[in-house]
This record gives sequence, C-alpha cells and structure tokens, in this order.
Amino acid sequence: MTQHFDLIAIGGGSGGLATARRATRYGASAAVIESSGLCGTCVNVGCVPKKIMWQASGAMEAIHRAGDYGIGVSGAELDWATLKARRDAYIQRLNGIYQRNLDKDAVTLFRGHGRFVGAGTLEVGDQRLTADHVIIATGGKPRWPAIPGAELGIDSDGFFALEEQPRRVAVVGAGYIAVELAGVLAGLGSDSTLVIRHQTPLRGFDAMLQQGLMEALPHGGVKVQPGFVPARLSGEPGALVLEAEDGQRLENLDVVIWAIGRDANTQGLGLDAAGVVTDNWGNIPVDRWQQTNVEGVYALGDITGQMPLTPVAIAAGRRLSDRLFGGMQDRYLDYANIPTVVFSHPPIGTVGLSEEDARAQYGNAVQVFTSTFVGMDYALSDEKVRTHMKLVTVGDEQRIVGAHVIGNGADEMLQGFAVAVRMGATKQDFDETVAIHPTSAEEMVTMV
Ligand code: FAD
Ligand code: NDP
Repeated sequence: MTQHFDLIAIGGGSGGLATARRATRYGASAAVIESSGLCGTCVNVGCVPKKIMWQASGAMEAIHRAGDYGIGVSGAELDWATLKARRDAYIQRLNGIYQRNLDKDAVTLFRGHGRFVGAGTLEVGDQRLTADHVIIATGGKPRWPAIPGAELGIDSDGFFALEEQPRRVAVVGAGYIAVELAGVLAGLGSDSTLVIRHQTPLRGFDAMLQQGLMEALPHGGVKVQPGFVPARLSGEPGALVLEAEDGQRLENLDVVIWAIGRDANTQGLGLDAAGVVTDNWGNIPVDRWQQTNVEGVYALGDITGQMPLTPVAIAAGRRLSDRLFGGMQDRYLDYANIPTVVFSHPPIGTVGLSEEDARAQYGNAVQVFTSTFVGMDYALSDEKVRTHMKLVTVGDEQRIVGAHVIGNGADEMLQGFAVAVRMGATKQDFDETVAIHPTSAEEMVTMV
C-alpha cells in the first residue's frame, strides 16, 4: 500500500528533522526517512561530540595554566575511555530526546534507505511513499584522498570511534575539521601535526584569522607541516608513514586522519528517476526557495554545498515549511552574514565579508579597524597568546560588513555582533556602545 504525506524529508539530520517538525506544527502530515543514526552528522559524528572533545581539551589547558594562579594541580591525566563513554552516553540521550520530539510533533519516521522512483514517489525497503513536497536533506560524508594506502587512515567518523588516544597523529586537511581535530588532540596530550598543502589553513577566511591561527597553533601544541601534498600512506598503526609528493615524510604515526572536505550523499538516491540534477561537485543546486530543478522537490543543508553548517540546514528547513504550510509566501533563508565559529585553540568567530572579499566587492570604499592584544586570561602567564580582531566597513557611513575575531571567547562573542551586522550597524553604533570591562569583547567597541 502506498502512504501519502504532505511532506517527506529524506534524511533525518539537522535539516530534515527541522523541516518535518515545522511542517506538522502547521497541521501538515510529514515523514522522515533515515538510513542511519537519527539526528544525522551534527549530533552523532559532528558538532556535538566535537564540542565535547574541545571542551575536554580546554579543561586540560585550564589545568596546565592553573599554576599561573598559584593553584597546584598534580596527577591530572586523561582517561580517554571514560571521556568517550561519557560522550557516547550523552549522544545517546540526545538521540532519545530527538525521537521523543518527533513523536510529540507527530512526524512519522521510516528507517531505511530512501530513494526516488519518480519525482514525488519514494521507496524505503518494500514500502512505497508519495508526497506533495519531497525534501532532500541527505547531508554529506567524509572525502578520502585517492592515494595509495589511504585506507590505512581514518576520517572524522573514525576519530570519534577511537577507543584509545593516539600517541602521534597527523591530521591532513586545512578546513574546519582538520584545524579542530588537530587542536583537540594536541590539547589532550597527543603529538599532533596539522598537514596542509599550502602555507596556512582556512584559506578563504580573512587573512588576519589565517595568520592569527598560524601564530596560535604552536601555543596549543599543534605542529604545522605546510607545503605537504600527501602522495602515499604506508606501514601499520604505530608505524605509519605519510609521504608527500616532494618526498617529505612523517613517520611513526599511530593514526592519520583525513579531513580534506566532504562529499554529498547522493548515491542510491535515484535522482535520475526524479529528474533532479547535481552540479560539478555532486551537490544539488537550489534557488533561493530551496527548490531543485524539479517542481515539488527541494534540497537543503549540506547536500546543497551552501554553507554546510547545522544552523543553516535548520534555518533553511524551517523557513521552507513556513512558506509551504504557514502561509509565509516570501520566507526564505538569506545566506549573507551567517556567523560561524571554528573551534580552534583559541577559537575563531567570524561573520560577513573578509577584508579581501570586501575590497574585491567595494574597492576603496572599504576601511578596516583592527586590534591586537593579550587578553587578561594571560595576565599572570609567561605564555602570551594574542587576540586579533578586525572590523571591515564600507562607505562614508562605515557600515560594518565583516567582523572577525581569533581569541579566547570569540566563540561566544560573535553571535551578538552578528545581529548587529545583520541589522546594518555602523562603526559609530559600535563606538557609541559602552564597553563591558574587563573583557576581550570590549575591544570590539573601542577600536580606533
Ligand atoms: P546531516 O546532518 O548529515 O543528515 C543527513 C542524514 O541523511 C544522515 O543522518 C544520513 O544518514 C541520512 N541519509 C543520507 N542518505 C539517505 C538516504 N538515501 N535515505 C535515508 N537517509 C539518508 N556545523 C556547525 O554548525 N557547527 C559545528 O561545530 C560543526 N561541527 C562539525 C564537526 C564535524 C566533525 C562535522 C563532520 C561536521 C560539523 N558541522 C558543524 C557540520 C554539520 O554537522 C552539518 O552542517 C549538518 O549536520 C548538516 O545537516 P544536514 O541535515 O544537511 O545533513
Ligand atoms: P573544508 O571544505 O572546510 O576544508 C577542507 C580543506 O582541505 C580544503 O579546503 C583544502 O584546503 C584541503 N584539502 C582538500 N583536498 C586535499 C587533499 N587532497 N590533501 C590535502 N588537503 C586537502 O572541509 P572540512 O572537511 O574541514 O569540513 C566540511 C564542512 O563542515 C566545513 O566547510 C564546515 O562548513 C563544516 N564544519 C563546520 C564546523 C564548525 O562550524 N565549527 C566544524 C567542522 C565542519 P587547501 O586548498 O587550503 O589545501
């Protein structure tokens, strides 16, 4: 028997769940198809376990620096197995909460691999489903390099499955995941090397953030191996050898982590049966309404390749359901000025245009304000890690089009500034705002 719904989301991750739950709140019937762990990447093998590891690493750092305040700490050592068990239990609890939320919102969950057999017709196992609106929210998966021995490495999913702390590890890649995992591992005591092809990680971010990160990485215990293009991995765990195209070698590695990007999950989806096209990168292109090239078929979240972040997937999904079922005809997600944080040590917070992008767009109308300082968290410390901040403004009115920070607290600092940037705040608005003292954030409103 064929079951019909107003909306079906393929993929029970951040985007699919948000879309379906918002749809049922308007009285629509909605289903989610999930082939693996409910809640998707973010909760199971992404943001959530990553943040816990980052916090653990931060706790270690606090212990190491306790001596600055005359606090004696001895015998502090990490029990990796306990950390993993407690982290896994937390995620299991979250999975339960999500399941209960689905039940509460009357979203029907189908377990299995969903695939199109027509534009509005899907199959999960031997069940056939139809819907007026089908949402593709199947996310992505880690990309692996096509080099000999790649299978001897692991990806970010494998990192979260590690039962033991690697003693010596190389993290290959230059994006969010590589930077975050290399930092976490170093903070927890592993000998951690970030292996990058170019001279800095996070190319595409404001140059100040790239330089600030290069400056901070050694303080966090991360070794950086620039100009290293991996060509081969060989050996065995404990004695892995990573070789570069130019002959450079990293030896005696316990673990090599590939963090070189993610590919769209479209395999076995039956996109041809629906007539849905993909772009050159395998992502599904959409218009501002999240509509694919086929009417009634939408895509959102990582599968679109547009700002692959959890809150983006959620926001796009909720807005889509607001439009489809909530009578909000003009509702769509504006992808400009989406703030984001890289959980490095210290973290990076950024919103809007980098200075480079602003200059390309607005030329001489761009003016920047910067501040570099050592925050009070290093007041009593021999080690000084600098905070860097930048405001990018445009025009005589100095409208702020970019705000960038690398430094302790940047992760919690940027959300509020993102509101201001979105509202069109000017440098004068910042200047007119009285500072909160003594904080690092106050520098954002005192730059000259
Ligand atoms: P997903 O959450 O990946 O969900 C897709 C779901 O679809 C999966 O559960 C999958 O099993 C299922 N699926 C796939 N194909 C099918 C099919 N044919 N049938 C049925 N089900 C299917 N973002 C942040 O904002 N902050 C962070 O700190 C952050 N940290 C991250 C750390 C790591 C290590 C990683 C990997 C990602 C991180 N992200 C972070 C990104 C974030 O996880 C993703 O942007 C987000 O999960 C995307 O949501 P989505 O709904 O598009 O896809
Ligand atoms: P990214 O696309 O961010 O970065 C991957 C980088 O790895 C590339 O930019 C490239 O940098 C480098 N690279 C690519 N191929 C190779 C190769 N063959 N060998 C060596 N290096 C290579 O991917 P991630 O996997 O880090 O993350 C995916 C997305 O997940 C992110 O873009 C982000 O949106 C999201 N995410 C968000 C987080 C957060 O919000 N805190 C945390 C984690 C993920 P280069 O060209 O410079 O070499």
